[in-house]
Amino acid sequence: MIAVEPSRSLSLKAMEAIDWDVVILGAGVAGAAAAILASHHGLQTLLVESKGFPREKVCGGCLNLRSQASLDRLGVSAEIKSAGAIPIQSMRLQILSTKAQWKVPTMMSVRRSTLDSILVDRAIATGSHFIDRTTGHVLATSCEPTNGRRTVRLQQDGTSVLVSSKCILVASGLTRSSIRQDDQWPAKIESNSRIGVQCLIPESQAACFADGQLHMIVGRHGYVGICKTDGGLLDIAAAIDPACIQSMGSIPEVIRTILRECGHNGIELPCKEHWMATPSLTRCSTRVSDRNTFLIGDAIGYVEPFTGEGMSWALASAEAVMPMVLEIASSGWQGGMGDRWNDWALRERIHKQRTCRWIASQIRWPRGAAWVLRACNWLPPLRASFIRRTSQ
Ligand SMILES: Cc1cc2nc3c(=O)[nH]c(=O)nc-3n(C[C@H](O)[C@H](O)[C@H](O)COP(=O)(O)OP(=O)(O)OC[C@H]3O[C@@H](n4cnc5c(N)ncnc54)[C@H](O)[C@@H]3O)c2cc1C
Repeated sequence: MIAVEPSRSLSLKAMEAIDWDVVILGAGVAGAAAAILASHHGLQTLLVESKGFPREKVCGGCLNLRSQASLDRLGVSAEIKSAGAIPIQSMRLQILSTKAQWKVPTMMSVRRSTLDSILVDRAIATGSHFIDRTTGHVLATSCEPTNGRRTVRLQQDGTSVLVSSKCILVASGLTRSSIRQDDQWPAKIESNSRIGVQCLIPESQAACFADGQLHMIVGRHGYVGICKTDGGLLDIAAAIDPACIQSMGSIPEVIRTILRECGHNGIELPCKEHWMATPSLTRCSTRVSDRNTFLIGDAIGYVEPFTGEGMSWALASAEAVMPMVLEIASSGWQGGMGDRWNDWALRERIHKQRTCRWIASQIRWPRGAAWVLRACNWLPPLRASFIRRTSQ
């Protein structure tokens, strides 16, 4: 595992005294990518993460072509490859007993602890300050002075300080835990949404999963993605019905049931303590910016994942917000910026999340979805369109 050296990290007290250009809350792919870009442009940048780094998180770790292109622009592709990222050339889809194996444009599989640490290291190297084990909360606009700056409360081990910044990026993922969950930042969560779960196991515990393949296994209670990743591990990530965890007793029991109904019996799954879980996956923020503050990545909204859409969207949002961050740093918040960011989020949601939404709705009815899979097998143009949408 790559060790993040938070050598540029200042004490909380020292942070209070700095006039930050941008404070970024959350060091997942969206936040760390934004920190690299901001410090690359010479902005005084603070990246804040609530967990201790390096950390795992619920994710299949598959990088599609769009994610790989973004990581290339951030200058970290070579490092990701040399850290042991595994190329994926084919997708094995199984819906109940219906199977298909398709060649896909080369994706890559990498553990989130590896990827996010490389990004944070790069952000530090380009000049960002990084602090982990610290939660950040954006103060409400009504509590703010009207001096064109915003305030963030940072908390670490019972100590709390206020830092002031020209711009704030909320990159705290699905939970958006760094902003108030009230009328100021309204959000919609779909009532029948599945939740995400994940664990890593040694690849020797499931020898049936070959190198270079992404397995997507769809059952009645959810779907499971399995692929080899760096460190000799197998990443098992799934979207499952939360009600099944209660009725079946535990997360591994739900996963075991899905795998068993698709004929996969030989996998030793770890006990429930080794699994991580997310809240409901399908949700969207109906407001994505407020004075000097923008939401990026999953904080904007999310649809149940299938392959590599989540990280590509998160990385794209970090790149897209940067012109406005630079404008705010040089000439302050301009009217219309909020609308520009809303327009971007709406356009991206409509185009990029349409496929995820369609797939998520189809595979809730696996018997019907199995017919769609057969049709894709028979009709090459349909298959090509599916592959393009899920892996590019
Ligand atoms: C089961 C599953 C499988 C998936 N598989 C894939 C896949 O194979 N490929 C793909 O591209 N995408 C996948 N995704 C989606 C992908 O994980 C997300 O889209 C992506 O991680 C979003 O990045 P982000 O930076 O917005 O948020 P995150 O990666 O969630 O990062 C948010 C960070 O903010 C931190 N944080 C939270 N609150 C605070 C706070 N108050 N202060 C400071 N820090 C805070 C968190 O600790 C976290 O580190 C999958 C998702 C799920 C659920």
